[in-house]
Amino acid sequence: MKFGGSCLRDTSSVSRIRSIVSVERRCILVVSAISGVTDSIMGAITGRLSEKGIESFSRSLAAIHTGMLSEFCSGEQLRRHTDEINRIVGSFSRILFGVYYTGELTQRTKALLLSFGERLSARVVAAAIDAGGRRTRVFDADALPLLTDNNYENGNALLKPTRRKAGPKLKKALEEGLMPVVTGFFGTNGDGHVTLLGRNGTDYSASVIAYAVGAGRLVIWKDVDGFLTADPDFVPSAKLISELSYDEASELSYFGANVLHPKAVEPAEEGNIRIRIRNMDKPFSDGTLVTSGRKKTAGIVKSVSCLKNLAIVRVYVSGGGFQSGTISHISGFIGRAGVNIMSATTSQTCIAFLVQSSDLDMAVAALRDRTNNGIEKIETERQVALMCVVGEGLGTTRGIAARVFTAISKIGVNVGMMSAGASRAAYHFTVKMNALKSAMNAVHGAFFGD
Ligand code: ASP
Ligand code: MG
Repeated sequence: MKFGGSCLRDTSSVSRIRSIVSVERRCILVVSAISGVTDSIMGAITGRLSEKGIESFSRSLAAIHTGMLSEFCSGEQLRRHTDEINRIVGSFSRILFGVYYTGELTQRTKALLLSFGERLSARVVAAAIDAGGRRTRVFDADALPLLTDNNYENGNALLKPTRRKAGPKLKKALEEGLMPVVTGFFGTNGDGHVTLLGRNGTDYSASVIAYAVGAGRLVIWKDVDGFLTADPDFVPSAKLISELSYDEASELSYFGANVLHPKAVEPAEEGNIRIRIRNMDKPFSDGTLVTSGRKKTAGIVKSVSCLKNLAIVRVYVSGGGFQSGTISHISGFIGRAGVNIMSATTSQTCIAFLVQSSDLDMAVAALRDRTNNGIEKIETERQVALMCVVGEGLGTTRGIAARVFTAISKIGVNVGMMSAGASRAAYHFTVKMNALKSAMNAVHGAFFGD
């Protein structure tokens, strides 16, 4: 079971976690930092605090966690847990002092500092469950280890090595009747250095841990009901989806649904683990189930998601369509500049790349250096949004695209880039940012009514 920061706001939410897990016989918990803590650590790292500032930040970090502890335990127990929190915060502040004195902040040190939110929250959750009479054991993901590649900010888990190393330890704890509480969000690259799994990466951690122990199911507890038929900020009438395939959940997560970390599906799929998204405030709602089933619904389309703040780079290449390697050649420049390509389409004369607005200048700069390399012209377009239509059977059912684009054209909105055919369960296209809301409602309305 994964509990995110939104389920870790205060002592009453920790009590709720305790009562949820109390009925589970064999269960591993994977937890995020207490709500807001990762952001506050980020602020402390980038804020160039003075020595006094570091001391007072560390004190407040300790106080948030020890304050919660005192609601659950007392006496000797409270003292022991408080010492542990203070010891961990002590390490944290020594590292932050190191950054201050050396004036040097590497990706590696940043990852290490950011991992402390989860190290602390895991202790609080475990102490609360212990105090309720159920024995726990805390596992720090780097010691476990949850192994990743060398990417310090957005690490990719190494599934099989993690299963080999971490699986037996967790299973042993379960056999001893303990409830393991594992820190989310980070792992280690195998040299013993902490790597992060990306912001909101605890979903991904939990999926990796589920894979490592061969779990039958993974429950992601949240403060929302599950996947919806559209983003409710745009479409207030959006409804809960009861079941999705792995592919559908991946596409939706990648293209805008903020329900699950985009990488969380892969380990679960690899291990054939059912994922259930559930709302901690509505324990009787079933939420959304994600499985290997490829169920089609009558209307085929299950959800329409969107991403804002994108931009298009159009690269005109002479004779591009006739040369081998043109796409990899051009996209290589953008990729090596550290820009993630969200989507791409090609024609004989031009390749169009969809990128985050914030990456646009970097992408263009990377290409400008190469004007003599077959690139004739570069055009950019800002204020672009992407809409993604998802549903098993999309790729093989007649008339769905016609319905989507009829709905869009009826409200007079123009479609920019379009990409279909790669996934059998999804396709996407762009519209202007200022048309996004009406386009979302038009397409959602065509399939789900108003
Ligand atoms: N605490 C981390 C973050 O805020 C990871 C997570 O919440 O899943 O990004
Ligand atoms: Mg978070």
